[in-house]
Amino acid sequence: MLSDTRDRLLALRADLHSHSSVSDGTLLPEQLVERAASQGVELFALTDHDEVLGLADAEAAARRLGLPFVPGVEVSVTWGGTTIHVLGLGVDYKNGILEGQLAKVRSGRILRAQEMGEQLARAGIEGAYEGALAYAGNPQMIARTHFARYLVDTGHCRDVRDVFTRFLVEGKPGYVPHAWAALGDAVLMIRDAGGVAIVAHPGRYRITSLALHELLDEFRAFGGTGIEVATSNHSEREMMRFAELAREFGFEASGGSDFHGPGEAENVELGRVARLPRDLLPVWHRFV
Ligand code: AMP
Ligand code: MN
Ligand code: MN
Ligand code: MN
Repeated sequence: MLSDTRDRLLALRADLHSHSSVSDGTLLPEQLVERAASQGVELFALTDHDEVLGLADAEAAARRLGLPFVPGVEVSVTWGGTTIHVLGLGVDYKNGILEGQLAKVRSGRILRAQEMGEQLARAGIEGAYEGALAYAGNPQMIARTHFARYLVDTGHCRDVRDVFTRFLVEGKPGYVPHAWAALGDAVLMIRDAGGVAIVAHPGRYRITSLALHELLDEFRAFGGTGIEVATSNHSEREMMRFAELAREFGFEASGGSDFHGPGEAENVELGRVARLPRDLLPVWHRFV
């Protein structure tokens, strides 16, 4: 690639990871797209968890605003007992096939949430299931995020960070393990839908470096394309670490804010994505 083309690509304000109220974000898909445009985003992906229902509205809004749009999804995966998120970018969501496969990944969320509610009740927090449900735009996609909002708004926790320290995580009240999609199935459903698979926010997984290498090896063998190097979860150091892994594995690099809504998390805003190191190939070379 010509180096000035590469520089222009790297300078593009791409945000390829975000959530609407179709999963656990707080804005409607069209509101999210409007916000992305007003924040100066130049290439935008909606990547709701395990659901593509918001993509048609988002795509229509993006077209109206002249904002280049990438239809996406973030698939929940269970790998070696750990929850991993795999982004699918550039997926065809219109033929119903992906939607059907995602329905299987989503199933069980309501039962899981009811169990979370029961556990929290035993820890002295009443009404959490009903409370969380009231925040869920889509009951089928009820997530820990909705419980977190309930726990903050009822004063049980100071903020979302406090929630994910004292509750809803392994060993703490409100944690209910769940079997999501298998890694290979997630990559396959994304590829079958014409998309590329990207390991989301690798810095978030509490696994050893050895396990991470195993994960990335398997992911590549299944046909995975890249990893998210720039994301609001990553410190500068983590970003450099995952850039190095991208080089080692020959992965393309992605970047996204993982925005869930205004005021949800400090310093997280649409389009606020660190610039990738110059030698990496941004996955968005495929979408421009
Ligand atoms: P679930 O799919 O129900 O397990 O919910 C996972 C969601 O919870 C993620 O997509 C995030 O939005 C949120 N989440 C998980 N861990 C954290 C954390 N440590 N801090 C903030 N949000 C988190
Ligand atoms: Mn989320
Ligand atoms: Mn995620
Ligand atoms: Mn996400």
